[in-house]
Amino acid sequence: MGPTLDTASSLVPQSPALRIDEGALRRYLSAAVPGFSGGPLEVFQFSHGQSNPTYLVKAAGGAAYVLRKKPPGKVLPSAHAVEREYRVLAALQATPVPVPRVVCLCEDPAVLGTPFYLMEHVKGRIYADPSLPGMAPQQRAAVYEAMARTLATLHSVAPAQVGLEGYGKAGGYNRRQVWRWGQQYRQSVVQGEPMPEMLQLHAWLAAHIPANDADPAGTRISHGDFRLDNLVFDSASPSRVLAVLDWELSTLGDPLADLAYNCLPYHLPADIPSLVSLPRPLPPGIPDEQAYIRTYCAARGLPYPLQADWPFYLALSIFRLAAILAGVGARAAQGNASSRIAAQVGADSVVRSLACKALQIACLAPGNSSSSANLGSSLGSSLGSGGSSGSSHLMGTPAEPYANPRHPLARPDDTSNILAGNPLEEYANPSPAWKSAAAEAVKALDEADRLLPPRTPASSGAGGSAGGGSSGGGGGGLRAQPTAAPATAAAAVARSGSATSGLGPSPCVQPILRKLRRFMEEHVYPAEPTLNAHAASDQRWTIHPVQEQLKEEAKRQGLWNLWLPADMAAALQPLLQEASASEEEQRLLLGAGLTNLEYAHCAEEMGRSVWAPECFNCSAPDTGNMEVLARYGSRPQQRAWLPPLLRGQVRSCFAMTEPAVASSDATNITASIQRQPDGSYLLRGRKWWASGASDPRCAVAIFMGKTDPQAPTHAQQSMILVPMNTPGITVVRPLPVFGFDDAPHGHAEVLFDSVRVPAGAMILGEGRGFEVAQGRLGPGRLHHCMRLIGMGERALGLLVQRSESRVAFRQQLYRHQSVRLDIARSRMELDAARLVVLEAAHALDCVGNKAARGKIAAAKALAPSAVLAILDRAIQVHGAAGVSDVTPLAHMWAGARTLRLADGPDIVHLETIAKLELAGARRARL
Ligand SMILES: Cc1cc2nc3c(=O)[nH]c(=O)nc-3n(C[C@H](O)[C@H](O)[C@H](O)COP(=O)(O)OP(=O)(O)OC[C@H]3O[C@@H](n4cnc5c(N)ncnc54)[C@H](O)[C@@H]3O)c2cc1C
Repeated sequence: MGPTLDTASSLVPQSPALRIDEGALRRYLSAAVPGFSGGPLEVFQFSHGQSNPTYLVKAAGGAAYVLRKKPPGKVLPSAHAVEREYRVLAALQATPVPVPRVVCLCEDPAVLGTPFYLMEHVKGRIYADPSLPGMAPQQRAAVYEAMARTLATLHSVAPAQVGLEGYGKAGGYNRRQVWRWGQQYRQSVVQGEPMPEMLQLHAWLAAHIPANDADPAGTRISHGDFRLDNLVFDSASPSRVLAVLDWELSTLGDPLADLAYNCLPYHLPADIPSLVSLPRPLPPGIPDEQAYIRTYCAARGLPYPLQADWPFYLALSIFRLAAILAGVGARAAQGNASSRIAAQVGADSVVRSLACKALQIACLAPGNSSSSANLGSSLGSSLGSGGSSGSSHLMGTPAEPYANPRHPLARPDDTSNILAGNPLEEYANPSPAWKSAAAEAVKALDEADRLLPPRTPASSGAGGSAGGGSSGGGGGGLRAQPTAAPATAAAAVARSGSATSGLGPSPCVQPILRKLRRFMEEHVYPAEPTLNAHAASDQRWTIHPVQEQLKEEAKRQGLWNLWLPADMAAALQPLLQEASASEEEQRLLLGAGLTNLEYAHCAEEMGRSVWAPECFNCSAPDTGNMEVLARYGSRPQQRAWLPPLLRGQVRSCFAMTEPAVASSDATNITASIQRQPDGSYLLRGRKWWASGASDPRCAVAIFMGKTDPQAPTHAQQSMILVPMNTPGITVVRPLPVFGFDDAPHGHAEVLFDSVRVPAGAMILGEGRGFEVAQGRLGPGRLHHCMRLIGMGERALGLLVQRSESRVAFRQQLYRHQSVRLDIARSRMELDAARLVVLEAAHALDCVGNKAARGKIAAAKALAPSAVLAILDRAIQVHGAAGVSDVTPLAHMWAGARTLRLADGPDIVHLETIAKLELAGARRARL
């Protein structure tokens, strides 16, 4: 009967290096285990699949135990934690989950050199091959049904009921997994650069974390390695699982992640003969994946079919596997691998094949229409025509370039034929050495996990101050709602697809928001008078030391580059490694891995003071420029400018608008970029409103000009990098905005008179300026709207405050009905604008820049006018003081008013919305 194993069939004599002291064990058992016979012991070692050395201990009288212990020697503190295995097994004893009966745990290393535990030896059968060769169809069906039911039984146990509530973190499992495996993968890249397919997969995963991930209510005991060959079946009945083994990777987690891992044999590439995969067609009796999942759902009482996140779980499982194998390969490359065949197990071709498989799955995810263009094209280059037929319609779709041209799509394909015959026997049937190598990688992640920003479970965030900025408005605002709601209700709303409640601050961002608010209260608001006074003095074009001090303090508190989305952070990490950033600095510079939606809540806080964004390195135009460099810059361009910008050491400007032409239509610009015979470029043109150009720290400009005035209209323009100290650049004057010159930042008129820059300064390529501009229309441009909401909150707070303190016509202002109406209207309009902005941020996260452009346009059109109306009312209630410098209102009004122009006139955004609406209506009629 096929490759089945008796649970005692893989016994070998103890290896000398792992031999245990039988006398010491006998003495210990005699003292610690009631009823132990005390006679001589026979000890054998298991050879099959154990990273913790495992032994069969036969006692006089016929009792048989299995002993598991940590390996000898130095291991990571969190690695090989047999104590955890014992804990979960002990906790599950009284549940219907079939586990071996535990006998004792010995944590005293003096007994056998390392901690160990004993459990009863379960006699039965292990099926090593998931295709169950040699079995009758009904038997196969019975095995699979039993496996699905067993997993469902495990996931039906509430951790707290069995004392395992602290066995791992509740909620946020998938997010942590994506982060930690991404970290693990990047750490494994010791030579060359990270594999584009892995980066792209990681970025996709980061952008598709299931909506209810943060909800601790869904947390269950996760086995972590639930597969057929970790189950002991009754030898007489294949429908009965006697025990689930190998709990080394168990933790608290998302049960669907366990299920997806369990389903991997349905998906792993079949052209790697030794990988554990199911043949096609499936052997008779083995259910297809959906039937298998249906059994699981029925056993758990879950509705079937599963939610649309299934592709995410599968892709994550494959990513995890690929990252483990990459780690094994890396150690082999460094000569540190414990297995002879580690280099083959972790070969690039294997890792790439797995990543491509996961990307194929991602392509097919529902609602993935925009990002699938990226994924599909990457797969197209990696798999050629041999890609899955199911996703073939996505192949060859022009990529919306996520990164620079060197990124995924330009790679030569070397995937398909290398895989044939790759010896992965070790993964198919892992030896102790292989598993030890893999487990080492896994355990390193626990170390990495400690580096994660702290998470607050939704349940404990209930009392959070999420609603309360200093002027947050009494019952006001969307912000307070989701956190105040019970976590389960929030999750239910998220599941039911309600966009509204799902837009509140996630549990992950709440601690950051609390810190930000404290920072604003303790540092920013108190610094405003000093910075305002400096900005009005004759020293105003210098940087006040307080501004730099605030930056240092924000860095110290980890409130830095919060705007940086996780996918971009992932892509930038190798660059920072190259720039000799320590791990600690990398963590700081790469932000907190927030989504655009999460960042929107942070930007709102920052928007309450004109001085705040720079404190956190989150100000315009630097964020937009960094985004351009990250997405489109060549590696040398990134090397030159990104590390100092991410560190906040220098600033930048964006030079597109020209005084001579209507620049809201950028095809009008006249500045020229001429290629010279030596390959360099000569720049000529007069620009104005280049924000930040007057700042003494401004080191680089992104300059837009025409490289070929004869080319098609949208291919004439290019963008090029210009160091601000290049001869020929003159900052002519700062332009005032309603009298405010916004020193020391400023908005400058700048003359570029025969400015020469090298060929390598061209971004993306000649004629691709519009492409870059489109990309820049993404998150970087939405940040203004996010900050505007904060500005509106502050204005409304001031309005309310003034209406309570000022008395006119014998009563406080708020007692006048017109003022109360102003307050009410302001609250409504601000909340409506906030919703639109948050929805745009969320759309950016879910569907990408292009598909979200209608919602972004709506935010840009609505937010400035809504906030302007509120500022206007607040100014009115302050009387003449409102237009002076006594309050920040006048300055804020000037800033908000420019945003009806500075991000493109609002009419242009309205045009976009109308165009999309009309196109949609036409499509619907077809
Ligand atoms: C504070 C501030 C900071 C700025 N920062 C930068 C910067 O860092 N870099 C940079 O390059 N630029 C910057 N700008 C410039 C800004 O991007 C431009 O002002 C904007 O794109 C509009 O261009 P324009 O001023 O040439 O107006 P024009 O193009 O001349 O437009 C004028 C008006 O024409 C009307 N109009 C335009 N199109 C239409 C239409 N389709 N239908 C009906 N009416 C229309 C609108 O009322 C519009 O306001 C900044 C501007 C301000 C005020």
